[in-house]
Amino acid sequence: MTALAQIIIDGGIATIVIDSPPVNALGLAVRKAIVANVQELGARTDVDAIVLRCAGRTFFAGADITEFGKPFEAPDLNDVVAALEDSPKIVVAAIHGTVLGGGLEVALGAHYRIAMDSAKAGFPEIALGLLPGAGGTQRGPRVMDAGVAFALITSGKPVGAKEALSNGLFDRLTSGDLAADAVAYARELAAEGAPLRRLKDEAPKVSDRDALTAAIARAKASRSLATQGCAQAVEIALTAPFEEGLIKEREIFDRLMGGAESRALRHIFFAEREAGKLVGVAKDTPVGSITAAGVIGAGTMGGGIAMNFLNVGIPVTLVEVKQEALDRGVATIRKNYETTAKKGRMTQEQLEQRMALLNPTLEFDALGSTDLVIEAVFESMAVKQDIFGRLDRIMKPGALMASNTSFLDIDTIAAATQRPQHVLGLHFFSPANVMKLLEVVRGAKTSDSALATAMALAKKLGKTAVVSRVCHGFIANRIMDVRRVEAEKLVLQGSSVMEIDRALIDYGFPMGQFQMFDLVGLDVMGRDSDERTLMSDFVAAGRLGQKSGGGYYDYDDQRKPSPSAAAQDIIASHAAYAGVEKQAVRPGDVIKRLLYPVVNEGARLIEEGVVQRASDIDVAVVAGYGWPAETGGPIQWGEEQGLSEIVAYLDGLSIPVSAELRSAAEDGRALGANLA
Ligand code: NAD
Repeated sequence: MTALAQIIIDGGIATIVIDSPPVNALGLAVRKAIVANVQELGARTDVDAIVLRCAGRTFFAGADITEFGKPFEAPDLNDVVAALEDSPKIVVAAIHGTVLGGGLEVALGAHYRIAMDSAKAGFPEIALGLLPGAGGTQRGPRVMDAGVAFALITSGKPVGAKEALSNGLFDRLTSGDLAADAVAYARELAAEGAPLRRLKDEAPKVSDRDALTAAIARAKASRSLATQGCAQAVEIALTAPFEEGLIKEREIFDRLMGGAESRALRHIFFAEREAGKLVGVAKDTPVGSITAAGVIGAGTMGGGIAMNFLNVGIPVTLVEVKQEALDRGVATIRKNYETTAKKGRMTQEQLEQRMALLNPTLEFDALGSTDLVIEAVFESMAVKQDIFGRLDRIMKPGALMASNTSFLDIDTIAAATQRPQHVLGLHFFSPANVMKLLEVVRGAKTSDSALATAMALAKKLGKTAVVSRVCHGFIANRIMDVRRVEAEKLVLQGSSVMEIDRALIDYGFPMGQFQMFDLVGLDVMGRDSDERTLMSDFVAAGRLGQKSGGGYYDYDDQRKPSPSAAAQDIIASHAAYAGVEKQAVRPGDVIKRLLYPVVNEGARLIEEGVVQRASDIDVAVVAGYGWPAETGGPIQWGEEQGLSEIVAYLDGLSIPVSAELRSAAEDGRALGANLA
């Protein structure tokens, strides 16, 4: 066992080196080691100053998240920071890697900070519905301008070392040998009799009081409780004595930690990590490497899918049937990159490098040399089967063949080949170059190795991958279609379009159901069915959405929506045709009406074994449908609402309740608890 802490003494300068792989998280053992060593070294007469640094890839990357939600055993992080700050000897933090959250708070306990010029620093707590709870909200506004600190705390985004130097978070940068430079810096400070710079004794720095007051007021009005909490904590830092601020910060932290919002965000954080793990697949399953990819179809999806590969340096053969469609697809890819370049997020050279990796062609056989092909042509079984039959004849042994189908049966597609073990679904979401979600669809015969290869690829592409079994619509589309059905029912029963969209936006969705219809186009949404539906009535009336000037809403030249009398007429006439009776919904019930059935459908996915675990459903809709992470996704939210309450509500509406939901409610267990 290597020692957690190593002490090096060099001519009066003591260095504490903490080594707790992989990221020097601030768990109990690490906290104890820091406190004990700082106190011991502080008392030694042969030590003039102390350097605190970490071995491995980074300075303390943050709290130990496995301790989250449990009471902290002493010494807690505040004790660690206090031990550093109160040391009678100068303490210098020597920072490399990513110093985040609790790690940055520890650094703020030191009297001075030297960092590698490649280091990054930030307070990511807000992403977990928390605030920096070890003095970050109190020392932040004292080490740098309070407005800058507030922005850092409420955005959660890290800053680079140069910015940290200029805003005062760091005191010195080095590009050389951090260990040696930190010792030299500490020696220099000790020699010149530099003061013990204790942030707790300094006054907050406010350069622009009005701007800060306005920012705090905005944050207090935010729907995020964590943002509100940050505002309260920083406001206290500006007005109250330090010790009082520290106590208030802790109170707010505890309140947030115990609340539903942080519980939901932490749930999603862990659920995303879990989602990538395959259940029942041996760890040593061979993972194939994808060094050349093929995409069939250069339409809406094919182009975006191709970009995923180009972005990570994998060459793509892009196949179309018509030259015109191919040219259009390639031009769209270029245009997307040009937009990125214009925003300064890519150089012209990078743009050309990516385009050079693209091989657009009408020659189907060019796909034969690739390791993976993703088919993204029209949603037609006949066309897809024909394509997979042809792929079977030209692909190398072991190559993967994937379909981006939204609804078709992967097993039927695989049956067109002699090697169904190498066929699977790779279901991207539109726009495929932007949306994080990738549903990896495991057919009845898909091999473990094909699946493991797809999961590894997803990671490389930066996607959030979730495994689904074959079913109509897979995970995200299937359960969110239930929301569509309910929303249409509600308008037919007399609720207003605006009222429903408003409820969804208030819940935290980026847009309402009907705004989404109008944006995507009702002809696109409704093209799967020949029946007369509410959607088909809109299409028949030429109300296709924003692109035709109106759908569920009317739009002016600026695409600003307003309530539509024409849409109301279509809804009323469809209600008469379908014999739907008027039924008022209490405003507070709109969300229950729309989303309890979604929870129910989620339970059905669990019951049918479509998902590997319940939390994968939450990951899918948060990443694929903009379901607000602060409610944790339908399963987590359903659990918070109470499964019995949901069952009673659905029973009251005579909506069939899934067996899984009913039994979980009756047994008082979590949804999917029996899957493990
Ligand atoms: P699209 O109509 O925009 O593009 C399809 C392209 O495939 C066209 O350019 C067409 O010329 C080409 N094509 C047709 N037959 C071909 C063949 N035999 N060989 C080569 N190219 C051929 O369609 P899309 O929206 O990109 O959808 C493609 C697939 O992705 C469908 O299965 C769809 O269900 C699925 N999907 C779509 C979305 C979405 O939001 N649009 C999201 C997820 C999945």
